[in-house]
Amino acid sequence: MSGDPIHVFLVEDNPGDALLVERYLARSSREVCSLERAERLSEALDRLGDSKIDVVLLDLTLPDSDGIETFRRVLARAMDLPVIVMTGLNDKQLAIQAVREGAQDFLNKAELEGDGLVRSIRYAIERKRAQEALRESQERYALAVDGANDGVWDWDVRTNKAFFSPRWLEILDCEDEAIGERIEDWFDRIHPEDLDRLRRDVSNHLMAKTSHLENEHRLRTGGDDYRWVLARGVAVRDDKGSAYRLAGSLTDIHNRKIAEQQLRHDAMHDPLTGLSNSALLMDRLAIALAQANRRSDYRFALLFLDLDRFKFFNDTLGHAMGDQLLVGVSLRLQTLLRPGDTVARLGGDEFAILAHGIEDPSHASRIAGRIQEGLRRPFDLQGNEFTTTASIGISLSTTGYDRPEDLLRDADTAMYRAKAQGKGRHAIFDEEMNQRAIDLMELEAELRRGLEAGEFDLHYHPIISLADGRLEGLEALVRWNHPRKGLVYPGDFIDVAEETGVIIPLGWSVLRKACGQMVMWRRQIESAGTIALSVNLSPRQFRQTDLVERIGVILAESGFEPSSLRLEITEGPLMADPRASVRKFEALRRLGVHLYIDDFGTGFSSLQYLHELPIQAVKIDRSFVAKVNSGNGQGEVVASIVTLAHNLGIEVAAEGLETSDQLQCLRKLRCEYAQGYYFSRPLDSDHTRQLLASRRHWV
Ligand code: C2E
Ligand code: MG
Ligand code: MG
Repeated sequence: MSGDPIHVFLVEDNPGDALLVERYLARSSREVCSLERAERLSEALDRLGDSKIDVVLLDLTLPDSDGIETFRRVLARAMDLPVIVMTGLNDKQLAIQAVREGAQDFLNKAELEGDGLVRSIRYAIERKRAQEALRESQERYALAVDGANDGVWDWDVRTNKAFFSPRWLEILDCEDEAIGERIEDWFDRIHPEDLDRLRRDVSNHLMAKTSHLENEHRLRTGGDDYRWVLARGVAVRDDKGSAYRLAGSLTDIHNRKIAEQQLRHDAMHDPLTGLSNSALLMDRLAIALAQANRRSDYRFALLFLDLDRFKFFNDTLGHAMGDQLLVGVSLRLQTLLRPGDTVARLGGDEFAILAHGIEDPSHASRIAGRIQEGLRRPFDLQGNEFTTTASIGISLSTTGYDRPEDLLRDADTAMYRAKAQGKGRHAIFDEEMNQRAIDLMELEAELRRGLEAGEFDLHYHPIISLADGRLEGLEALVRWNHPRKGLVYPGDFIDVAEETGVIIPLGWSVLRKACGQMVMWRRQIESAGTIALSVNLSPRQFRQTDLVERIGVILAESGFEPSSLRLEITEGPLMADPRASVRKFEALRRLGVHLYIDDFGTGFSSLQYLHELPIQAVKIDRSFVAKVNSGNGQGEVVASIVTLAHNLGIEVAAEGLETSDQLQCLRKLRCEYAQGYYFSRPLDSDHTRQLLASRRHWV
């Protein structure tokens, strides 16, 4: 209390008692009091609105009011003022009742003395202020709770009685009767999976191991489903520190929790098929690996599955159908596996399967076989039946891995091996593959470096017209001047360049260089003006969507005449997507270039099919040419190819001509062109220039 005087309002009709009070207050040295008096209740009530009053001293027996009624009426008028009642000797019961109803204190007039009066006044004011402050803070708390839309609970730990606020019940959609007054009424509704954790959290907090209780759990609602809630609370402790009460709030976090679960699910699953995605697969792989490294009797396999020709399916039937096939495959895969196994979609047409409890490699093989068998059954897509096959690579935990990525990488390597051996097969990863994979990686890096350093060069192989022995054309063949290995032939790197995509920059640089070289020779050497140029086009280049534009640009930039360019393409990429091939061939023809089918006879295409393509010639593969004069029927094969081609208006070139006997045979068959060591080895550019200048003829 500050030095401000205390304004005392005395309601007292007895002048003697009033005088006594006045004297005591005046004598009090510690507190300065000012006194004001009313003699009747009506007068007191009129003046009670006056804010200057700090405390009321009230005699309960007044001329116009008597007993507890006097107090009640004063209190009703001055709720926020402390009231001290004064009674006669025999009125103790009355005094106690007044205190119970809110009086701060009572004084017996007969026992009144100075210090006691002042102390009572001071305490009454302090207590009242404290009560006010508490009420305010309680209201604030109630408002806060209300604003947060939380339910409130209060648990008397000793009696086990609990209170649940209306909002608490509302969160759970419960009628008031549904929940009683025991803490079990809450705990009984907790999801079995969440109960132990909550009990642990509560007991930890009761034992003061935690500063507060905070626990998320699911509660069964009145509608018998579960809602996520957050319970927060703090224990009230006695002076020995043992908790006798635990109270707090209950927040409805259901929507947030569901959204979180959805996010978590989405982050771990493939949106199209609903299968696990690679992130989840990697998690599971890591767990399986840890388990396998702990227990020698636990083994698992990872199967990497890639659909064969999916790209073709997608391109020809459209992405919507492609998606349906992927969904169909994912459903089929799930039916083919045991419940504990994980099927994941890694993206595109790649799937992975984590299969537990694999005894030995043959076991994994059988699973792969079962999957391949299962996928062979037709899929019904929009009323049409489609079949597909898959190539599967397998890695086994017994190989001894530490990292999930390595398992996946090796299964992927094995899958490529399986694919290379033909579609619809499976292969198990082994050390040899590992070495090959490493070699491939090294070679790829070398290739990129060599390309960068300009180590690739061109040799030219003469193509002879068999009718008159004239030089008809030159086939550009790439060579690698490797700084360590010396001259490297395409047989040692073309496949890897193709597989890794290095063939794309390499192939285009070959075409650019060959065209440029030919333009130069044609300018310098008059007789070179009619010589054609053949350039090999790789499958990967052929698949590029801007193929035609690129070739057009190179022709325009070099100034090479399109009708003198022959592009050699093998059958493989043509068959992968025949319709697209026809479109590309037609566009290339419009450009003016000629199209040759290289290595003819080694693929699966028939001449009949090739007739639909605007091609000028087929080059019969060396393996047929070698046997053309062997007399065991192979010669017949070459003969029929030549006859059929001629009937279709297609010319024939023979590759790998090595002997004069072969030459005789081919001449007899009226094969138009030939190239081979019999005439010449492929020549470097200097020797090619000399050849062009010599105007040499072969007989
Ligand atoms: P290809 O297009 O069928 O080329 C013919 C290959 O047969 C050449 O091998 C050539 O040297 C070889 N050859 C020609 N006549 C004979 C013969 O009488 N006997 C024997 N044993 N071989 C003969 P090379 O240069 O090693 O090329 C191999 C393959 O590499 C080529 O086969 C072609 O598919 C590919 N290739 C070469 N250069 C390129 C290129 O620039 N781009 C692409 N995409 N592929 C290329
Ligand atoms: Mg060729
Ligand atoms: Mg060839």
